[in-house]
Amino acid sequence: MRVLVTGGAGFIGSNFVHHLVENTDDSVVTLDALTYAGSKKNLEGVLDHSRHEFVEGDIRDRELVDQLVADVDAIVNFAAESHVDRSIEGAEPFVSTNVQGTQTLLDAANDANIERFIQISTDEVYGEIEDGEFSEEDTLNPRNPYAATKAGADLLAQSYYTTHDVPVVITRSSNNFGPRQHPEKLIPKFLKRASEERSLPVYGDGENVREWIYVTDNCRAIDTVLREGVVGQAYNIGSGIELQNIEVTRRILDEADASKDLIEFVDDRAGHDQRYALDTSKIEALGWEPQLSFEEGLERTANYYL
Ligand code: NAD
Repeated sequence: MRVLVTGGAGFIGSNFVHHLVENTDDSVVTLDALTYAGSKKNLEGVLDHSRHEFVEGDIRDRELVDQLVADVDAIVNFAAESHVDRSIEGAEPFVSTNVQGTQTLLDAANDANIERFIQISTDEVYGEIEDGEFSEEDTLNPRNPYAATKAGADLLAQSYYTTHDVPVVITRSSNNFGPRQHPEKLIPKFLKRASEERSLPVYGDGENVREWIYVTDNCRAIDTVLREGVVGQAYNIGSGIELQNIEVTRRILDEADASKDLIEFVDDRAGHDQRYALDTSKIEALGWEPQLSFEEGLERTANYYL
């Protein structure tokens, strides 16, 4: 299979490109605009591989996208503005890339003859949940601008399946961690600051709960959905590993051998969702399950950053 991976120089996208090149016979075309969040360094080791081609460009560039889509069997769309805090400061690039960019890719896919369009969505599209878990049938109820644009893209992708028969499959994963994540995100930021004995700013009371999945487990899940997923369906991807942010912070301090005194509670993020949790029985029925514990994942992540 020949796969177009958009946003493949970012965190999860680059791990997915490594996964495809190293573990399958697929050919991969990476399309990435190399924003502040993307780097060719993330593709070191696969960049010049005979089954890999890197194209610097924008998913909103219809002409370029048409050329690339004409020559692939599948699209996996990771490209996005991905940082919630930045979306609170200004939502424009989020609407532009996450919604309009996805629309451009869907239009190109509709005009070409592709077998699969995987839209990488997020658990944040469901909003927060106090108890229990979200299933794929739950209503989307995003509560910050980033999540709202991802929900827009998710719904747009579903509509292209319903109205145009574009073979869309959606993944909604929980928080990823692992190598190649931009240092603005919680785990790499805290690992780095802890190693430099700088304070770790924890939002609010630190009791917000996130479900953490190691990035290679998510990549294996996306690969499963790419090959086995039913078109028109969405699949939650999670690990069941739920941790309060304060607990993640403590474990990072342990991993970096740093003092708990570095914890500093700061004003909460506006619209901060209290808890996310996913029912993952649907993807497990395809034969996938997560492999890494939080401890193993954090050790690998710390080895990469420190
Ligand atoms: P990231 O910010 O690390 O990477 C995004 C990549 O997209 C970057 O390489 C950037 O250069 C590229 N990009 C941005 N705008 C572009 C454009 N207009 N055209 C082409 N390329 C563009 O993000 P990530 O954390 O790897 O997330 C990847 C995807 O997974 C996103 O769609 C995100 O919403 C989703 N997701 C992330 C998480 C997580 O925990 N990180 C969880 C669930 C879902």
